[in-house]
Amino acid sequence: MPKPKIPLTKKRLSLTSNLIPLWVYTGGPMQRPELPYDYVLARQGIVKRFESSFVSVDYLLVPVSQNLIGLQLEWYRLQPLRFKLPKIPGCLLRDVLNDARRDMSLEFAYHFRYNPEPPGRWTVTRPENYYEQSRTGLGYFYKPDGVILELHSHNTMPAYFSPRDNRDELGGRLYGVIGHLERSNPELALRLGMFGHWLYNVPGRAIFDDVGPFIEVELGGEAEAEAGWVSFDEAAPDNAGNFLTNLFRRRR
Ligand SMILES: [Zn+2]
Repeated sequence: MPKPKIPLTKKRLSLTSNLIPLWVYTGGPMQRPELPYDYVLARQGIVKRFESSFVSVDYLLVPVSQNLIGLQLEWYRLQPLRFKLPKIPGCLLRDVLNDARRDMSLEFAYHFRYNPEPPGRWTVTRPENYYEQSRTGLGYFYKPDGVILELHSHNTMPAYFSPRDNRDELGGRLYGVIGHLERSNPELALRLGMFGHWLYNVPGRAIFDDVGPFIEVELGGEAEAEAGWVSFDEAAPDNAGNFLTNLFRRRR
């Protein structure tokens, strides 16, 4: 069998079919990952590239400040988060809020799916067995089909991602939590799950056409420490780390 031809601009370290590829980046354009994700060793560090039918993003997973002399690494231009589907109507989010408020002693989960058949339609459902599955530790194996956004309620608690949520939310989809539902402006937090790593502080307006009456919670500190550092290298120096601006810079 002939060996696959590898462009000079990228060298693949692992070619075994059952391993996720790790590329060494020495410059030039690169195709998006064929798999749900891959890794690139570039000048700035190890980048996890995530590509699904609904979202595309590159994430600097392990920054490397030292020059790895001899590898001839170049800076890799990170792809900001890009949501590929029409925005979710805000009325579905308000439906979820009204539903979750019916019994504030319980937590509920909601699944947002998109049917691409023209004219295209978002739907949201409430899986009745979610809580049991999560409680019994089955969350890790819990892979509902076609779910783009999995959102759950924290009733009167703040919106944040708990250790249990981290244990359960290991898939490749968007995750959200809503909290303080007793308030007129409840809290909303969103993150992108990338199979064991998370991109935090995904702005609601990146995926919803309207997030009212919710206020969005910025999760810093601990959340960033858990997830690694979020950075987009094409940021201008005066807004380095201004993740919201970068998100929309190259959105089509
Ligand atoms: Zn939670």
